[in-house]
Amino acid sequence: MKDFVYKAHPARVVFGAGKVLSVAEEVEAIGSHRALVLCTPPQREQAEMVGRLLGSRLAGIHDGAQMHVPIESARKARALAAELGADCAVAVGGGSTIGLGKAIALEADLPIIAIPTTYAGSEMTPIYGLTENGLKRTGKDARVLPRSVIYDPDLTKTLPLQMSLVSGMNAIAHAAEGLYAEDGNPVMSLMAQEGIRALAKGMPKLAEAQDAEDARALCLYGAWLCGTVLGNVGMSLHHKLCHTLGGSFNLPHAETHTIVLPHALAYNSPAAPEAMRQIAEAIGAEDGPIGLHRIAKALGMPTALRELGLMEADLDRACEIALSNPYWNPRPIEAAPLRALLQRAWEGAEPRP
Ligand code: NAD
Repeated sequence: MKDFVYKAHPARVVFGAGKVLSVAEEVEAIGSHRALVLCTPPQREQAEMVGRLLGSRLAGIHDGAQMHVPIESARKARALAAELGADCAVAVGGGSTIGLGKAIALEADLPIIAIPTTYAGSEMTPIYGLTENGLKRTGKDARVLPRSVIYDPDLTKTLPLQMSLVSGMNAIAHAAEGLYAEDGNPVMSLMAQEGIRALAKGMPKLAEAQDAEDARALCLYGAWLCGTVLGNVGMSLHHKLCHTLGGSFNLPHAETHTIVLPHALAYNSPAAPEAMRQIAEAIGAEDGPIGLHRIAKALGMPTALRELGLMEADLDRACEIALSNPYWNPRPIEAAPLRALLQRAWEGAEPRP
């Protein structure tokens, strides 16, 4: 058995259908009294519902969350929080909205309560991202970790099926890379396997009946576990490739994760056989990477980067960027097999080690 260091992040998690009703109690539990509710414009209605639940503890609603947290949007939200005298932020939404909450927490020291409505997992990590002059910088800071997280599967029912599925794959990606992380530990591996298992069981059920309560609960439970893994151990080639494709070619976050994951795992499979066995077992397939690719295909998710509008001519540059400042990876990252990986992901071919 490999030596390890285990360190957990402090976070309070409240899980269950209807648990959004306890949002005012959560505000009190973290010692706050006036909450600024954050959302994107399409989720304004959900944010207003949360606002009504907060009653006199509501400082205001700000629907200015945007993808990749532009620095101007963070400055605006920080100024509004100060103007309204808010002493905490309640982020209702996916990674973009929680990211805005983190940007406020970073500079204004405002604690966050997160109410995630996708499976991206940002609520369980101390990682933040800010975009300035077209460049996204990321960092780690304990102040951005939400103090309390309400996982209410009812709030995910409005997430369209296709977005739910690719978001589920995004979550699986965190757990899959956590299984071979350099700084991995047995507790995170247990969470990773259980997270993948829950999502692999929940996603086909969602595809059958989008508002099935047990499927929504299973997927959100899996997303919590996978997000915890993301927040606690380092990520490798797969996440580097997705950051490259998202950052430099503006490809959509969860869809890119869905397409690249089987190929990145296949690349790493010779160097991480135990992780591949665990993934295969969790999804009930003979082979982890091929199994994930087939799940994506069977459920109608995108499986080729060309479907996202990436040009074949961009693959060389994507390969070069991914080779610069690589993350730690179980298998050395070499140009020729990496370029072949990108080609297969672009075409939508089955993954091959
Ligand atoms: P998102 O937050 O950008 O949401 C996409 C769209 O879906 C938005 O318009 C949003 O309002 C809408 N939406 C979300 N939940 C909904 C619901 N239940 N019903 C209806 N509409 C809903 O997407 P995401 O995939 O959750 O987050 C992606 C972003 O989060 C990326 O920028 C990524 O880098 C970041 N992220 C950060 C971390 C971290 O640890 N810092 C982790 C994961 C993702």
